[in-house]
Amino acid sequence: MNHKPNILLLYTGGTIGMMRSSQTGSLKPFNFDKLLRKIPEIKLLDCSVETISLHPPIDSSNMCPTHWIAIAELIESNYDKFDGFVVLHGSDTMSYTSSALSFMFENLEKPIVFTGSQLPIGDLRTDAKENLITAIQIAALQKNGKAVIQEVSLYFEYKLYRANRTTKINAEQFQAFASLNYPPLAESGVHLKVFEENILKRDESKLKVHKELDTCIGLLKIFPGIRPDFIKHYLSTPQLKGLVLETFGSGNAPSEDWFVNTLETSIKSGLMIVNVTQCSGGSVAMGQYETSERLKQIGLISGKDITTESALAKLMFLLPRYKDAKDFKINFERAVCGEISEN
Ligand code: ASP
Repeated sequence: MNHKPNILLLYTGGTIGMMRSSQTGSLKPFNFDKLLRKIPEIKLLDCSVETISLHPPIDSSNMCPTHWIAIAELIESNYDKFDGFVVLHGSDTMSYTSSALSFMFENLEKPIVFTGSQLPIGDLRTDAKENLITAIQIAALQKNGKAVIQEVSLYFEYKLYRANRTTKINAEQFQAFASLNYPPLAESGVHLKVFEENILKRDESKLKVHKELDTCIGLLKIFPGIRPDFIKHYLSTPQLKGLVLETFGSGNAPSEDWFVNTLETSIKSGLMIVNVTQCSGGSVAMGQYETSERLKQIGLISGKDITTESALAKLMFLLPRYKDAKDFKINFERAVCGEISEN
């Protein structure tokens, strides 16, 4: 007899389970368990579903690394009891949380599928039901007794993406996410099509959950006219250990001496600076233009085609592990869990 998969549904907050305040009309998290009882479709699924909630559920704009750790611990403590996990999360910072979890769960053999919605599950025109039901079905997919998708993913509006490749691109359309540098893992239409060639291949090693993250990092987006005193002030933030520098195009930046010298001084004093493009798609290729040649020479780390969300999570994850600048650079430029293309 076939084993019926059991799925853990973890509600962390976000629009999907929010209710409108009758006084102000603004949305705030609600008791998701109560709302879920109004969705009879859950009972029709070919798997059993149990729910737990983060206490209290929050709007994802309030999510921070301590919540990421709390979510990871909830999954870790239930890991052996369930076949798959669906994390309901606000879309605003879903790409950040899910990227972080992809680094934290080493040797993951069960799916962790993030989803949410643009409209609350109780709204007439909601996108929540489809997102929720298909996310559960994906988490329950099995082949030869093993999970089909053994990685952290994000399902939204008919597409399943590798979570650490996603970015929220739209605040109102149902298609809120994109993964411009990596193809989808699955697509939901009349049939649920899984693109096996895009899925991470796992060996049989034992799960390790890493909970040490270093938050002494920053994000700096350059712009034409950026002033030397602004950058100097920014880089002199006490205890700053890592920085994601969002540059133009394929990793280009002003080639003026003051700019490059300021970065060089910080790198020499131990700051790890990762070059990530401001473009939504494509890759950093330092040295392609004169305006990125010196960045390469002074030792900027290439973020290649990584997203900013993923680069921030990767910095937090790698900083406690690699103290030596050379080791750090090698490991940042290498894929940990499919977040960066290696060539
Ligand atoms: N502000 C909400 C959140 O991120 C938006 C959403 O759920 O999509 O929690």
